[in-house]
Amino acid sequence: MVLIYIDQAEQQVKKSSLEAISYGAALAKQLGVSAEGIILGTVNDDLAGLGKYGLQKVHQVADASLNHFDSKVFTQVLTNAAKATGATVLVFAHNLNGKAIAPAVAVKLQAGIVTGANSLPNTSNGFTVTKTVFSGKAFAKINIDTPIKVISINQNCFGVQSHEGSATVQALAITVPTPSIKITATHKVEGEIPLTEASLVVSGGRGLKGPENWGIIEDLAKALGAATACSRPVSDSDWRPHHEHVGQTGVQVAPNLYIAVGISGAIQHLAGVNRSKTIVVINKDPEAPFFKAADYGIVGDAFEVLPALTAAILKSKA
Ligand SMILES: Cc1cc2nc3c(=O)[nH]c(=O)nc-3n(C[C@H](O)[C@H](O)[C@H](O)COP(=O)(O)OP(=O)(O)OC[C@H]3O[C@@H](n4cnc5c(N)ncnc54)[C@H](O)[C@@H]3O)c2cc1C
Repeated sequence: MVLIYIDQAEQQVKKSSLEAISYGAALAKQLGVSAEGIILGTVNDDLAGLGKYGLQKVHQVADASLNHFDSKVFTQVLTNAAKATGATVLVFAHNLNGKAIAPAVAVKLQAGIVTGANSLPNTSNGFTVTKTVFSGKAFAKINIDTPIKVISINQNCFGVQSHEGSATVQALAITVPTPSIKITATHKVEGEIPLTEASLVVSGGRGLKGPENWGIIEDLAKALGAATACSRPVSDSDWRPHHEHVGQTGVQVAPNLYIAVGISGAIQHLAGVNRSKTIVVINKDPEAPFFKAADYGIVGDAFEVLPALTAAILKSKA
């Protein structure tokens, strides 16, 4: 059986899980086994409705203490859940939570793991999983030969696939360990779209000249309902906070739309954004390397292009 970890936040299923479910369901079909999901916490969403992404069953450990993510606790609960359900393959989204728990679960289950897989495994002769390495410069094909296998799937590699269907929801009785970290208060940042969850991102680079010019980035982001991001020199210079820095050494994002403004497109920047579905580059230098990775490009001065783009978006919305 293929067991897919379903991530939740604030008692709602995270969108990034739908792709992991679609991937796990396709893998289960390929292997001729069932696709089942596991969700931790008291979630309010329609879990039976996840059947339309290919799940036959959803196991739920409905303990309210699991509504807050704790990697140690989740690792223990998921390990025991995998054992209790007899899972032979575990699938995670390669997002922040997946990165935190998939390797730890694999160690506890003595399972081989491939993190950041790009496609379905080749199971014609073994179980060979393909992933990108060296910041997306090359592919590695890794054969997992342990009885239990763990895969985390890169965002936007497989897509969300929905059909008709409904899953049965079943309570799973797993003892929840006491967390070693106690949450005393949670402060939610209001008004900002978290970068890792955003489906639209507007990102600025050194071409913006200084922090005083960020208004044009924020205006476009606001018009689109997008999160804001930046290149590393921008955050290193304290023009923007470090949590906005994307790239090899920063946050890795895979939104539906990534708009890069005044960013040259160095390999270290591309490593964090090249899984975006559509990339739009705005740069005044027609030779900027980023244009090679772009789906759409505008050669022009950001200070002229951005206000015009924002005005056009606001006009079309009105
Ligand atoms: C080990 C290592 C790790 C790194 N990790 C990261 C990382 O995670 N993320 C990251 O971003 N970088 C990273 N870097 C840095 C990276 O190599 C580049 O130096 C950096 O991405 C360049 O940032 P930039 O494109 O904003 O600036 P620049 O390279 O200075 O480019 C500015 C761009 O703006 C354009 N421009 C200028 N004026 C305008 C205007 N008015 N309108 C439109 N366009 C304009 C220019 O044509 C140019 O293309 C790393 C480097 C190393 C060595």
